[in-house]
Amino acid sequence: MGEILLAIVLGPVLWLAGALVFDAVHWVLHLLLRSRIAWLRGLARPHAVHHEWIDRSLVTNWELQSANVRCHIVPEYLTQLAFTGLVALVLPLPFAAMLGALQTSVFAGMLYYRGRDVNHRPAARIDAHPPGWLTPPSYHALHHVWPDAYFSAYTKLVDRIVGGGAQIAQRRFGWLGPDSTLGAALRSEVERAGGLAASDPEIPGSVDVLVLLDPAVPLDAPVEAFIRETRDRQLPPEVWALRARAEDPLARHYRTDVRVVFRTLLVPDVVPDSASSRRAACRALFWIRRDADFVSLGSSCSLAALRRFRRTSPLAPAGAELVRHRMQFADLPSGSGRCD
Ligand SMILES: [Zn+2]
Ligand SMILES: [Zn+2]
Repeated sequence: MGEILLAIVLGPVLWLAGALVFDAVHWVLHLLLRSRIAWLRGLARPHAVHHEWIDRSLVTNWELQSANVRCHIVPEYLTQLAFTGLVALVLPLPFAAMLGALQTSVFAGMLYYRGRDVNHRPAARIDAHPPGWLTPPSYHALHHVWPDAYFSAYTKLVDRIVGGGAQIAQRRFGWLGPDSTLGAALRSEVERAGGLAASDPEIPGSVDVLVLLDPAVPLDAPVEAFIRETRDRQLPPEVWALRARAEDPLARHYRTDVRVVFRTLLVPDVVPDSASSRRAACRALFWIRRDADFVSLGSSCSLAALRRFRRTSPLAPAGAELVRHRMQFADLPSGSGRCD
């Protein structure tokens, strides 16, 4: 009896472990899809059907609905059952039975919705995903736009291990602010990772990620202007801001603002030379790929700086149009919420 109770209590934990195994399998499938060897690509081909069903423009191709069930939902369920089989080898039967029951109910739910579960429903505007470990539907939507990143389905653990928490390649970067050794190192690291230079950072619509290079300039004017320019886009804008101090109330606010994916990059106390700038840029990209919202670029203790940042009270920008979802932008008259 005690064993059954324990199996019921631990069931969700085991289910999450199974989901993480599938996240890892998912990452491998995308590696295979990029392989030069045809039969390896063929092995992962069924997963490509899932991405054709909801394509990179987030358009649902209804004619592939049944193919998605066959090629994605059923194999995902079978992978999870294989994990349950392994659990049955090491844990008493009630644990495997509980896990199998949970996986089967989720599978039944997905079949009921024909694949249109919470992660696969159309949205005219996608919110910025929050920092932390959870992956809401806004995070999985990014995987459909950028299939070589954002692999995790429930928690970011696998993305944090494989560096799949942010797309750099093919995104257009706008660089705003004065030239500096650190800014140049960051720019060259982004270009090395395949990031593109926006045709003109001043032209609305030409930038996916805005990098604010002046650590001293107030954040609200450039960030609010960028949010206004991108409010009608389906995908949320992203800002990386160099900051001089961890105690930055505006940066602390933007960290959880649904209008923008925001990352604070704390600059070192002393002006870095070119070698330490390169190291700082590498460190920035390493952590951004793990969806870090705060990276300390200096050599001093990063955890202490992170603690100071987290303890800072957030301050909302004056006059900004604060919404709970980007969808609410649609209800606002154009040009409202100017940050005067
Ligand atoms: Zn999907
Ligand atoms: Zn995928």
